[in-house]
Amino acid sequence: MDYNVALPQFRNAMEPARRILRDIFGYDDFRPNQAEIVQTLIDGGDALVLMPTGGGKSLCYQIPAIARPGCGVVVSPLIALMQDQVEALRQLGVKAAFLNSTLDWPEVQAVEQALLAGGLDLLYIAPERLLAERTLDLLERATLALFAIDEAHCVSQWGHDFRPEYRQLKVLHQRWPEVPRIALTATADARTRAEIVEQLDLGQARHFVSSFDRPNIRYTITEGDNARERLWRFLEREHPGDAGIVYCLSRKKVEETARWLSQKGRTALPYHAGMSSREREANQQRFLREEGVIMVATIAFGMGIDKPDVRFVAHLNLPKSIEAYYQETGRAGRDGLPANAWMAYGLQDVILLRQMAEESDADEGHKRITRHKLEAMLGLCEDTGCRRQALLAYFGETLAEPCGNCDNCLEPPETREATEAAQKALSCVWRTGQRFGVNYLVEVLLGKENERIRRFGHHRLSTFGIGDELKAAEWRSLFRQLIARGYLEVDHDGYGALKLTERCRALLRGEEPLTLRKARRPERRKPEKAAASPAAIAREFDARDAALFEALRELRLELAREQGVPPYIIFHDTTLKEMVVVQPRTLEEMGGITGVGAQKLARYGQRFLDVISNPSRSAAENPPPSP
Ligand code: ADP
Ligand code: ZN
Repeated sequence: MDYNVALPQFRNAMEPARRILRDIFGYDDFRPNQAEIVQTLIDGGDALVLMPTGGGKSLCYQIPAIARPGCGVVVSPLIALMQDQVEALRQLGVKAAFLNSTLDWPEVQAVEQALLAGGLDLLYIAPERLLAERTLDLLERATLALFAIDEAHCVSQWGHDFRPEYRQLKVLHQRWPEVPRIALTATADARTRAEIVEQLDLGQARHFVSSFDRPNIRYTITEGDNARERLWRFLEREHPGDAGIVYCLSRKKVEETARWLSQKGRTALPYHAGMSSREREANQQRFLREEGVIMVATIAFGMGIDKPDVRFVAHLNLPKSIEAYYQETGRAGRDGLPANAWMAYGLQDVILLRQMAEESDADEGHKRITRHKLEAMLGLCEDTGCRRQALLAYFGETLAEPCGNCDNCLEPPETREATEAAQKALSCVWRTGQRFGVNYLVEVLLGKENERIRRFGHHRLSTFGIGDELKAAEWRSLFRQLIARGYLEVDHDGYGALKLTERCRALLRGEEPLTLRKARRPERRKPEKAAASPAAIAREFDARDAALFEALRELRLELAREQGVPPYIIFHDTTLKEMVVVQPRTLEEMGGITGVGAQKLARYGQRFLDVISNPSRSAAENPPPSP
């Protein structure tokens, strides 16, 4: 079947595009913005696409690349993931290939010949490879449908994904002014957008900015001590057996946490920049190919991971900015099924990040931005209103109603009048000379008469022992909120001494009341609706349907193993779920299931039909997990 838009049987550009969507991808409709973007490219225009993770960016260039004459060139920084991206397309029957350093010479030659012979619809290339003169010459001799620049925020010096080669991609426009270009990113802020336009010479491009809301993600931000224990309770309660990511700040904490989770019986693998690239690659492959693996990682992990069934992203430390938080949590639930973004942070995080923001040897301008971003992140954490409203507001989007799917909506935090307690805390800082950290100050407030306090003579202070209305943990929480709100600053001498700021005056004089959130009792909330783990999906169905779902998953895993690909490349959970609900009996009915295109129907349709007509055989050997 030829979908070339130039063919006479097509009356307009969107006709072949819709056919491709239905026949190849197995989807009924475009999502918001997809159709307009596809049309823009087919018509030869440039596009800048800002869409959240899971929004469906890939279709925006894949469909025009198939419909336009020639090959679409996709620039992607993610060599380790190219193979899976290309494999996913081949499973759909799309002629796709990649060029990167993992190929040997005969493989490279085969790809080049296919390209020159017009036998490719999509070619994935790493930027450094693309910019090599040899590759540019090769492309000169081929017919090009479009250039897609994925992860376009890599041009930005401010983000943590900066790739210098991205800045040279301007050359594409200079050499091929008539070939349409599309730049895509899930980074939402206006500054990055402006940088992309400037650096990639996209002044003529139409902008498509989607809503950045991810309604299926439930945001929860918890504060206090014992983050790891609380993580464990969260995993036990909501994600036994699910795949997910746990982010930590340091390599050491990554290692420790992965070991700890493994000892508790979960499959948990570490990932950080201190490991060899071979180890990292191996762990990433297991995360993608096995089911139910937890990746414990620093922020080095995650860009471009398009595993759709990551059911949770947990943070054991505070991210540095809302951008980072949004991007990292966005890796959950790409398939649109319920997912959790869960964070635990504490006083130490606030102190550490504050210090890091001050200490960095960046210039004052850069420091100011870092500080500002951290303020915004702390503001989100301490907020008592809807998290999603606050998050979207940061990206300039308005959500009219509270979302009903974040911790603050589900269980509004209790607040308490804290003016007097705050005054005690602040005057304790003042009277001890602004030279001490939180733990010491709490001891003074509670009247602990230890050797150190005696040595400094602080047992004679008027603030000694005036704080017995709160427990130590509550004082720590109060200090954390005072720091987060900017009443106290942390000295960056490395010892974490607290100092009063200008903001304190009004509070100390009693001219400004202070309300703070009460610490929640840890994790007592019952989930309203468990996230869509395989176990939870199975629970939704009756016993017979649950057995069928398990049998279908079993077949999927078997097919994936045979071919050495991730299970989700065969079918997503959403597709299997629809099979259970619809129970197709013929190939034609099977073809109507979302995500079953012509090629997958031909390759796998019958085998899945067989299981649907007789699930008991394989299900008897593999009973569904007990809830
Ligand atoms: P992104 O790159 O924006 O993170 P993807 O391109 O990986 O997102 O798409 C996310 C998921 O949504 C994929 O599983 C994809 O197959 C699916 N998807 C994309 N567009 C559609 C559509 N029009 N209808 C149904 N599913 C879609
Ligand atoms: Zn909410």
